[in-house]
Amino acid sequence: MTLFKKIIDRQIPANIVYEDDLCLAFRDISPQAPTHILLIPKQEIRSMADVRSGDQTLLGHMMVRASEIAATEGLSKDGYRLVINTNENGGQSVYHLHIHILGGRALTWPPG
Ligand code: AMP
Repeated sequence: MTLFKKIIDRQIPANIVYEDDLCLAFRDISPQAPTHILLIPKQEIRSMADVRSGDQTLLGHMMVRASEIAATEGLSKDGYRLVINTNENGGQSVYHLHIHILGGRALTWPPG
């Protein structure tokens, strides 16, 4: 079982900022920006590389929620970044798909 599944199941604590039937959002334990939230599906999808066409509604739902959470956090006007690290080269460390919502400062580009 992944760490994020344990957060969904309330086996380990997290600072939860949003929850509905399909997804959960909580603050990253090691924030890389003033606002750093992780948005995860409750369904256990390992990575973007494991997404199937049947996941379309769920992923669309999460993108809309990501925009709403960013707005709630006051990030919309100045801007923010959504990141999905995928597998080894993408720098993924937790194998439960998650969208990073990063904001509150000017973010550099390109990534390392
Ligand atoms: P990634 O490297 O894209 O797989 O991102 C995993 C993220 O999970 C990292 O930004 C970690 O800081 C974060 N993380 C790890 N453990 C926890 C935790 N217990 N609560 C919240 N965030 C966590």
